[in-house]
Amino acid sequence: MIFSTSPYQNCKNGHKNIILNMSQLPTDLLNSLEGVFGFEKESFCQIHEQTLDLTSIRLNFSKLSDFEIPSGWQKIPWSTSGYYLPERPAFTLDPIFHAGAYYVQEASSMFLEKVLKHTINPGTEIKALDLCAAPGGKSTLIQSFLGERDVLVSNEVIKSRANILCENIVKWGAKNVVVTNNDPRDFQKVEDFFDLIVVDAPCSGSGLFRRDPEAIKEWSLENVKLCKERQQRILADILPSLNGDGVLIYSTCSYSSAENEEITDWLIDNFDLETIRIPIEIDWGILETLGESKAFGYRFYPDKVKGEGFFISAFRKKGEKKEYVHKGRYKSNFLEVSKKEKLLLSKFLKEGDYELVKFGNEYIRLTSETFEAIYVFQQLYIKQIGVRIGELVREDLIPNHQGLMADIWIENLYPKLELEEHGALDFLRKKEFQLESNLKGWTIFTYKNIALGFVKLLGNRMNNYYPKEWRILHL
Ligand code: SAM
Repeated sequence: MIFSTSPYQNCKNGHKNIILNMSQLPTDLLNSLEGVFGFEKESFCQIHEQTLDLTSIRLNFSKLSDFEIPSGWQKIPWSTSGYYLPERPAFTLDPIFHAGAYYVQEASSMFLEKVLKHTINPGTEIKALDLCAAPGGKSTLIQSFLGERDVLVSNEVIKSRANILCENIVKWGAKNVVVTNNDPRDFQKVEDFFDLIVVDAPCSGSGLFRRDPEAIKEWSLENVKLCKERQQRILADILPSLNGDGVLIYSTCSYSSAENEEITDWLIDNFDLETIRIPIEIDWGILETLGESKAFGYRFYPDKVKGEGFFISAFRKKGEKKEYVHKGRYKSNFLEVSKKEKLLLSKFLKEGDYELVKFGNEYIRLTSETFEAIYVFQQLYIKQIGVRIGELVREDLIPNHQGLMADIWIENLYPKLELEEHGALDFLRKKEFQLESNLKGWTIFTYKNIALGFVKLLGNRMNNYYPKEWRILHL
């Protein structure tokens, strides 16, 4: 079981008990949705009046390979790893939540997996870009879908939000992700590079009103207009970096056609894109905006779907796939790793198709495909690339937490110590606690057999190497 019973106890927090009054929904929104495909005012308003108790998570099967799905969990029909939970637990109190064993994600947005399955052939050295990526829900989904030979650039323009994105990518255990912090315009430097671009656009957010009633106050027709203009700017800026035959996926959590069908029509009218139809099953309640616009779009209304408001549409760029040509000279920001250092590090690292580089004193493991395109990524502002291994001090390695999350160490390199729930939470809070063990040196703490972090055991005390900026602050 992912959750022991205790995190559930007395847990009435989160989104439970949120009751929204229909009269709170902006009149301008309701009026603007009259005549929009699939909008039914009465049932839409009714569902917004009801208690919201829909919680869903997406499992990380790279960490939960032999996990048994608890009874009471219900599969999300369009996802291979998404489940509705019978109630909302206090995720902060579940140690393996902090170890990236699952991601708490709204069910409708997991439909992205269906769109990927229908448009992309993973493992064929795909270069993917998730342009508006923080906090990382779509990126972790895309990363799980892709193969290790593919590379994902996960970008977030807002600096402060790029940090949480890095954290979620590290916890997910991804080896093939580059996190960047760039404006969409910056990607024009990498023309015809990506085979897949996902634009989960900033939007007016009406689709999440049930989850975040505060957002209602921010909503206005004027803001929808501003969002539409920004979405067009983002798309126009990013499209040159999509290769011929590449796939563009556009999504929002807005109900407004200005941000959905009007955008997809504009894409068809102004760019060399063709629409892609995604197979859906009638009983899912997803509506295909067939005939309502020049492109296939998929609308999610909470009165029809077990999920929140969402819109998604996919396109293929016309033309042949081109060879990316790098303009200008290439000078690496990374240091080369000597043969001697490589030999030393090979004693720690699982075999695989990887390259090593160094940044400052830190060694970094890059998948071969990431390494081959490093000069492309260096034109962007890289926040994080590949997997940080750690630092060598003489012949000893100070291992990095990211290496543990990404499972790069050879089997049994470090002893493991399974903690009880209390100990695990104390460890994640970086609080001192008593431990009965004869082990000494670098040790991995686990909970339910999932790695939580490193400690260095020193006889009667221990040094806790869990990243301090991620420690649990409130229990
Ligand atoms: N894809 C994310 C996920 O699934 O976790 C959610 C993305 S959220 C809908 C939109 C993101 O776009 C936000 O992180 C926001 O900071 C970013 N954003 C805001 N303005 C932007 C702009 N002008 N260009 C690109 N991204 C922008």
